[in-house]
Amino acid sequence: MNGWYMIIDVEKCEDCNNCFLSCKDEFVGNEWPGYSASQTLHGQRWMDIKRKERGQFPLIDVAYLPVPCMHCESAPCIRASKGGAVYKRDDGIVIIDPDRAKGQRDIPKSCPYGAIWWNDERDIPQKCTFCAHLLDGGWKEPRCVQACPTGALKAFKAGEEEVEKLIEREGLEPFHPEYRTSPRVLYKNLYRYSRCFIGGSVAFEKDGVVDCAEGARVLLRQGRGNHQETRTDNYGDFKIDNLEEGSGNYTIEITYKDCQKKIIEVELQGSLNLGTIMLQGG
Ligand code: SF4
Ligand code: SF4
Repeated sequence: MNGWYMIIDVEKCEDCNNCFLSCKDEFVGNEWPGYSASQTLHGQRWMDIKRKERGQFPLIDVAYLPVPCMHCESAPCIRASKGGAVYKRDDGIVIIDPDRAKGQRDIPKSCPYGAIWWNDERDIPQKCTFCAHLLDGGWKEPRCVQACPTGALKAFKAGEEEVEKLIEREGLEPFHPEYRTSPRVLYKNLYRYSRCFIGGSVAFEKDGVVDCAEGARVLLRQGRGNHQETRTDNYGDFKIDNLEEGSGNYTIEITYKDCQKKIIEVELQGSLNLGTIMLQGG
């Protein structure tokens, strides 16, 4: 049977917060019987936009990661709830029943993504419902998806086989796969948030004149056989991205025309700006 999925493209998110605000607009002060009680104005972020800065000045970038409930196939929140207070619908959407969940403080603690919020006033746990009340009324997508101006959010109904193909074709990944909850929210370009880069700028000096080394070959090696290669742009800049944080020692080999080859050893903890690398000759 077809179920709902969401794809979030990290590269397209600009932190405008339209998704967060449209969620507030839909749920604050509104009761949706059978789906959700009113969301609090403050203290709850059903669409929680996380932020990550990478690198060192001047080579830095920022990624924004919208994190809603993942509507996990193997959902710890369902297992932690009593009396069927949290359940999965046939279309994959995970719902917290506000009446049955009253007072069940273990439910928020069970979510490894921190996607469940406690409403003190009502004594209930609350989270994103994928706007199930709207979808059941004929809407084609939740409010957050409709409000996103960059196309960073997409929601669609599909079968497992179709989604498997999409994962392969688009390079989609779950956030925190180690949680093993099989999320229905998948990310594109997740490396922008969860992995790191090595970058720098290559220049050369010849006859007392310094210039950018455009087209220099930068070879990144780790151990034997494992390598990546790139070329510097017209400013002499390079960036090799999508590396595992804390992944150990690397050797960077830089060659440019007949300049003396430069070899740099680094231990990679997080994104690294090597600064200006000066070559002699050329
Ligand atoms: S993300 Fe958290 S709240 Fe949502 S289904 Fe998974 S475990 Fe439950
Ligand atoms: S509306 Fe789209 S671009 Fe804006 S913060 Fe949300 S996901 Fe990012």
